[in-house]
Amino acid sequence: MKRLTDIRAIFFDLDDTLLDDTVSSERSAEAVARELAGDRGIEPSDLARAYLDCAIDFWETLEPGSPKPASGAIRPSIWRKALANYGIDDADLALRLARRYDLDRLERVELFPGTLPVLRQLHGRYKLAIITNGFAETHDAKIARLELARFFDSVILAGELALVKPDPAVFRHAMDAAGVGPEESVMVGDRFERDVVGAHAAGMRAIWVKCRDETIPDGARPPEAVISSIAQLPEVLARHFSNS
Ligand SMILES: [Mg+2]
Repeated sequence: MKRLTDIRAIFFDLDDTLLDDTVSSERSAEAVARELAGDRGIEPSDLARAYLDCAIDFWETLEPGSPKPASGAIRPSIWRKALANYGIDDADLALRLARRYDLDRLERVELFPGTLPVLRQLHGRYKLAIITNGFAETHDAKIARLELARFFDSVILAGELALVKPDPAVFRHAMDAAGVGPEESVMVGDRFERDVVGAHAAGMRAIWVKCRDETIPDGARPPEAVISSIAQLPEVLARHFSNS
């Protein structure tokens, strides 16, 4: 087997790779549904579930070249769709839910326990960058609140480029920004289709953070390594991707 060496740059997905997006989103959605829509006759946990389903649908149906949504419109439009599931057409309530949700999320969002030690360990030894399917309005405040920028040479918000992972153009853009080639690059992410398949399509290697009960689809090229959390990354890098 070819030895995997000479990695100079590590590219990270953000949500559910470096930080716990799923749990903080669920808690925030339920808290704001209870606070602002508790008098609408809808069980807050049901409205929260509807919001999260609409949010998943928004992110999963984004296509490369999709026009960027109007500034500040993403979260209100998702809440409006969630309310529509219950026959409520109330743009003002959707806007208040969205604003409150954004504030609540910033209070709740946290890095995984292993993230900071790993970033401290890798910083200065590799070029580090984030590649996320996000927009400035959904991701900038979160990245600032978690003080992540200090570890990264660049943060690529694909939505701001009218791109979406797994389009290899996102990964090529990130490698250009870092000044590295695909043979020197590895992508680390939790979504097989978006992170692993996309990285491979751009010629990079890939480490899959397998945090859910998922299997590699039949016939798909497997990632070069699989870890269950970011805490295991340094050991895998030392074993398979030495840059010494
Ligand atoms: Mg992710």
